Amino acid sequence: MTEYTEIARHFESDFATAAMKVQREDGLYRHVEWSAPKSMSRLIVVTWPYNLLVAGSHGSYHFERFGSDTEDMFAWVRGSRFDPDRWASKLVNGADSVREYDQSRLVQQVKDEVAEAVREGAPRGLRAAVREQILESDLLGSKDVAMQLVYDFEHGVTYRAECSCGASKDHDDRSAAYTWEFYKHPVSRLDGEHKVRVRAMGGFAFSDVGDWAIHKPNYHFVYQCYAAVWAIGQYDAARQAVAA
Ligand SMILES: [Zn+2]
Repeated sequence: MTEYTEIARHFESDFATAAMKVQREDGLYRHVEWSAPKSMSRLIVVTWPYNLLVAGSHGSYHFERFGSDTEDMFAWVRGSRFDPDRWASKLVNGADSVREYDQSRLVQQVKDEVAEAVREGAPRGLRAAVREQILESDLLGSKDVAMQLVYDFEHGVTYRAECSCGASKDHDDRSAAYTWEFYKHPVSRLDGEHKVRVRAMGGFAFSDVGDWAIHKPNYHFVYQCYAAVWAIGQYDAARQAVAA
């Protein structure tokens, strides 16, 4: 999880000196707070059966999970591998509420798709065309623009204009294929019935773009995921100290 290391460092620095206060505790009903005056940070953790609320300076996130082992959501956190991507799916507001577009994931996806296409015998010059038309664009920071570049990209596609009379012609250029019936095979001036269709043939285009994983959990959510793990560790240590 190296991509989150910097966020972890921010959290650790913010809460390097923090005081814990148990406001209420009644079995699984807990309200615990931490304040870190130096960084003016605050963290609030509240639980009730099957629910966990992590709130404070970095936003409020409500997890809910109904399972045989999740009545105490502290146990759920203790037993889970640190994975904000997956934890986001347990948010009452839904995973999309904390996801943001990640340019580096988009670039990686484009490269992976192209590498696979090249292995499977893509049209010549595909890599160079992708680099020139997508990867070298300085507009990839905008999700909408980046996705439009990906959707619109095609390479090595042939457009065949074919007429019901049997005549046909292949074009590299889409608009040349569509204007064929006006200039090269002028159907309005020919006798008989001529009906022209254009078909795209071969070539490469990106597919299933809508399913690409190009989002990541946002900074504040990852921060609060660290906060939750840390808070429960602090809480457990305090309980152990009391027991001893
Ligand atoms: Zn014709």
